[in-house]
Amino acid sequence: MPRELPMLGNTPDASLVDSFGRRITDLRVSLTDRCNFRCVYCLPHEHNDWIERSELLTYEEITRIVEIAVPLGIRKIRLTGGEPLLRRDLPRLVEMLSGVAGGADFALTTNAYFLPDSAAKLAEAGLRRVTVSLDSMKTAKFALLTGRDALARVLDGIEAARAAGLGPIKVNCVVIRGFNEDEVVDFADFARSHDLAVRFIEYMPLDGRPDWDRKQVVSGAEMLATIRERYALEPVERTSRSETASRYRFADGAPGEVGFITTITEPFCDGCSRLRLTADGRLRTCLFSSRSHDLKSLVRGGAPADQIREFLVATVRTKEAAHGINEPGFTPSAETMASIGG
Ligand code: SAM
Ligand code: SF4
Repeated sequence: MPRELPMLGNTPDASLVDSFGRRITDLRVSLTDRCNFRCVYCLPHEHNDWIERSELLTYEEITRIVEIAVPLGIRKIRLTGGEPLLRRDLPRLVEMLSGVAGGADFALTTNAYFLPDSAAKLAEAGLRRVTVSLDSMKTAKFALLTGRDALARVLDGIEAARAAGLGPIKVNCVVIRGFNEDEVVDFADFARSHDLAVRFIEYMPLDGRPDWDRKQVVSGAEMLATIRERYALEPVERTSRSETASRYRFADGAPGEVGFITTITEPFCDGCSRLRLTADGRLRTCLFSSRSHDLKSLVRGGAPADQIREFLVATVRTKEAAHGINEPGFTPSAETMASIGG
């Protein structure tokens, strides 16, 4: 007998609800833990413990999982990694997923290095939007932060995405004290001049090393105050409780907007709607979970859809109340953001 599923109101598809009543609508699918960059805050240069290729979920396996998850209430699907564009023939997966995504919002997070060649193909295959990571507008600093001298190519990638209609484009900028906090206003200028949503992200303990230092975190409040010294900003009303960024438009009516993802200083866990699928087929209920849930064995073992559905529902029920970064005994994850899927 299938277990009775939690219901929200009369919505029968609301079955991905955790034990705190949060509805899970946002599935992040990591396609690989590998990357052509080595961002200092994400993937240590010395990292060499990669997922075996045979352990990566195949496109067919990912599509099957998404097909089962969508009717359970998933409204947003985001492909990420590692660098998702390292997976061969990504447009094929995009096309397969567009076929099962229903009306879900379908996006990709990328470092943009490969977008000049692939943006048009991805759009044609059914991708709706991209989010690009970019942490410095200075050529030398960009190279230092990412390990690649590729700023010009990333900027070309953003333009290729725009030309392909993969907008509105968001730019993720992780701000780290001592590295790039001096560029916050430059990024606000970039948002205005290129009509983009720049989202400043507080530095999180996800670099796979135990040496994350709270002193390097630049708070959203500090970044907001810095930008306000230059531009008058007006808050943009949240469209949903699960929206992670506090967003602001420019009061003078200029295009673009800025937002702040304040995971550390103002956690938003009580509105969290996310579930993550790692590249090797584990479900993670939080970026900072200390455990993951092996879904690949079920899928690869030929389990029927009902069993996979039950597993998704049961896993979501174990979702943590909050990330706990600010609690006394918190230990940074030994897994990198690249392997979890950002
Ligand atoms: N490679 C793609 C990219 O960089 O956009 C997708 C994967 S990346 C892990 C996803 C996002 O996680 C990026 O926007 C990145 O800036 C963010 N990220 C990685 N490590 C982080 C950390 N320690 N703190 C905050 N954000 C981080
Ligand atoms: Fe690669 Fe993205 Fe991590 Fe940078 S943030 S190392 S681009 S996965």
